Amino acid sequence: MEPKNNSTPNEKQNLTCPSYVCKPGAKLYGIVNANGLIDYLKEPIEIDETFMATALKGREPEKRFRFSGTCAKSGCKQWDTTGHECGLINSVIEIIGNDESSELQHCGIRAKCRWFAQRKGLACAQCNEVIRNIEMKIVG
Ligand code: SF4
Repeated sequence: MEPKNNSTPNEKQNLTCPSYVCKPGAKLYGIVNANGLIDYLKEPIEIDETFMATALKGREPEKRFRFSGTCAKSGCKQWDTTGHECGLINSVIEIIGNDESSELQHCGIRAKCRWFAQRKGLACAQCNEVIRNIEMKIVG
C-alpha cells in the first residue's frame, strides 16, 4: 500500500521487511540451522515459482527459511499506526530480550532492513532467534 501524502519520515522510507513470506520475488537471505538459529546467506537470492513449489512440499517454508521483501508499512497488520513504525520488531526485542552485541553478524539485507533502520544493533541481536522463540508468541 502506498503511503498517503501526509506520511511520516518512516512511512516515506522504502525499506525491506526481514519477516516476509515465501513468494516469487521475495529474497531468501537466511536458512534455519539444526540449532534453530539462522545461517545468513552471503548474498540474498531472489526466489521463483520453482523454489516456492519445492519449498511448499515440506514444512512451512517460513519456519525453515527467512525471506525479505518490501515493507508494506500501513498495509501490514504489524505496522504501529501510532508510532508510525514496525510494531513487530519492538515486540521481538521485548520478548527475546537479548543485549546488543558489540559485533554485528553478517546480514545480506541490513542496509535496507526496516528492523535495523528502526532499532539498529538491538534488532540484529534478536533476529536470528526469531523463528525459534517468537513464532508461537507473536506471529498470529
Ligand atoms: S511493518 Fe514490520 S512486519 Fe510489517 S512488512 Fe513492515 S517490517 Fe515487515
